[in-house]
Amino acid sequence: MPEADPIPGMIIRSQSGFLTVETEQGPVVSKLRGRLKRGKRTTDVAAVGDRVRVTLLEDGTGVIEQVEARQRALSRRAPLPWVGSRRDYEQVIVANPDQAVFVFACADPDPNFRMLDRFLVVAESQRLPAVICANKIDLVEAREARREFGEYDRLGYRVVYTSALTGKGIGGLRKLLSGRLSVMAGPSGVGKSSLLNAVQPGLGLGTREVQEATGKGKHATVVRELIPVQGGGYVADTPGLKSLDLWDIEPDELDAYFPEIRPLVAECEYSDCTHLHEPGCAVVAAVEKGRISLERYDSYCRIRQGRA
Ligand code: GDP
Ligand code: ZN
Repeated sequence: MPEADPIPGMIIRSQSGFLTVETEQGPVVSKLRGRLKRGKRTTDVAAVGDRVRVTLLEDGTGVIEQVEARQRALSRRAPLPWVGSRRDYEQVIVANPDQAVFVFACADPDPNFRMLDRFLVVAESQRLPAVICANKIDLVEAREARREFGEYDRLGYRVVYTSALTGKGIGGLRKLLSGRLSVMAGPSGVGKSSLLNAVQPGLGLGTREVQEATGKGKHATVVRELIPVQGGGYVADTPGLKSLDLWDIEPDELDAYFPEIRPLVAECEYSDCTHLHEPGCAVVAAVEKGRISLERYDSYCRIRQGRA
């Protein structure tokens, strides 16, 4: 019997060579057609978020025939398996993400803005729009939270205030996630799983249990999966982003990833100004005038000097 024509879908789970493709006929556990894996590659052939065409086999599994070109990817540079040169291979964490959602708590634990700044640099360097979610708003005065996180509003990042406990802001978060592929990241204990469960009761937790049931323990497995949310969106709850190394970023590119520093660079006296100590530095002048916050400049200096 001839095989049916391949049908379109998106990879929503990846584990040890098995790729689950969400299709209009439901999820299909698939493998890559052998020829897709041949030859020397500089990027992963397929990752969660990739759009593919899959042939359905009689036993209910599938074969991925084609992977469509990526719009963008959240990725890290990794050593080439066959050369060992460290920047030449692109390991894809999530393909085609629409936005990053960085979750921090207003309290318990207190927000770590230096970590947030590092996340934002990663998002900027990957050209990924970033949204900041300030959770546990129930633990602090709303005004206090807005004062702390307001700096990021001024920089042009969207900030949403939520409480997974009281439900405040959950509708807005749900709207923000629906119809998009979002990458969620943040320190542990800030309420990421609670938020996912509040956005979509049951689903986030269910997925985690599956992940743990693989036997190797949650952290040891390299399962990557997308959690579906209402309205056709997905959330990639990826520990990978947290460990994204900043060595991926060239030191002299760093100023481009701070939106408030970027426009000043051309005004510095030296074209190769590091904005750390040079005379005639427009960035230092802006810090002295209070136009760039001391905290953000401190984050810049730490990352630039590899002290992150
Ligand atoms: P994760 O590690 O980021 O996934 O965080 P969890 O979702 O596991 O939450 C960590 C702890 O914070 C749990 O005890 C939650 O009950 C609590 N928590 C989560 N969201 C909120 C919130 O909005 N307000 C308060 N007060 N506690 C919360
Ligand atoms: Zn400068």
